[in-house]
Amino acid sequence: MQLSIIIPIYNEEANIVTLHRRLDALVKTMKLSEYEFIFINDGSRDRSIQLVKGLAETDKAIKYIDFSRNFGHQIAVTAGLDHAKGNRIAIIDADLQDPPELIIEMFAKMDEGFEVVYAKRRRRSGESFMKLLTAKVFYRLLARITSVEIPVDTGDFRVIDRKVLEILKKMPEQNKYLRGQIAWIGFRQTYVEYDRSERAGGQTGYTYSKMIRFALDGITSFSDFPLKMATMAGFTVSGFAFLLLLYVLYTRLISGDYVEGWASTIISVLFLGGIQLISLGIIGEYLSRLGANIRNRPLYIVNETNTDK
Ligand code: UDP
Ligand code: MG
Repeated sequence: MQLSIIIPIYNEEANIVTLHRRLDALVKTMKLSEYEFIFINDGSRDRSIQLVKGLAETDKAIKYIDFSRNFGHQIAVTAGLDHAKGNRIAIIDADLQDPPELIIEMFAKMDEGFEVVYAKRRRRSGESFMKLLTAKVFYRLLARITSVEIPVDTGDFRVIDRKVLEILKKMPEQNKYLRGQIAWIGFRQTYVEYDRSERAGGQTGYTYSKMIRFALDGITSFSDFPLKMATMAGFTVSGFAFLLLLYVLYTRLISGDYVEGWASTIISVLFLGGIQLISLGIIGEYLSRLGANIRNRPLYIVNETNTDK
């Protein structure tokens, strides 16, 4: 098998037929004879899975994995990775924001000896100001606080070698941040640039709550900085409180000109309370992920599939 293309699907009925046509044209242009398109239906509420099944009747290359509910984009891609048989594996969004034709360029880089070729977004159009801003800030923040160099302005659109896939499959974490994991694995990695267009049809499946969870997964899996920050803030505030204590004792016992310090009391109580809650929250984020890994539940439940694994 030369190529597996992994496509996570969440309410993409408007795009599936066009996408399949583009993918089919792509493999013909590339003159591939052995390939597969793995569609993972991540609990869509529309007719996505019926469309995929319909296409599968005429195209033998189509595999589908139908989840029992919505497990999230990263897990959908993981299921695709688990079932991929190709020597090279491409991950692509279903909404045509990632042009399939770029895979040709990625393949050329793979032929030069790279094990990972990811697509870097030069420009993004048709996305909301908030989305662009949060993405920009988040990726740069993450890059600053992680020890692993995770490329900025890239999504999961990429081609990876079988070698990388086999390692990825052995990484057991439940909270997936695939682009980070792939960066962590190493080997020779490079990128091709492209202009990201707007989604062809339908609406984004990434709500703000999903984006926040995803961002926290990225941070907690690849950085201890927030925990350190909590500790540092604790020390800073305590040091400050200690100086204040000396001052208070001085005015109370020696100089004697103290006032009813309501304002300062309330401020320090609120401030300390805030710092403590933030610190607890940060610890909680890490702890809940630790808990998920200990419970070790299956990552996803398959309702129906035509892959034989
Ligand atoms: N997706 C998914 N599960 C989800 C949300 C999204 O499988 O819970 C898929 C979606 O169908 C698409 C890809 O993940 O193929 C990227 O999602 P989307 O285009 O909605 O994200 P955006 O491009 O807005 O960041
Ligand atoms: Mg999209």
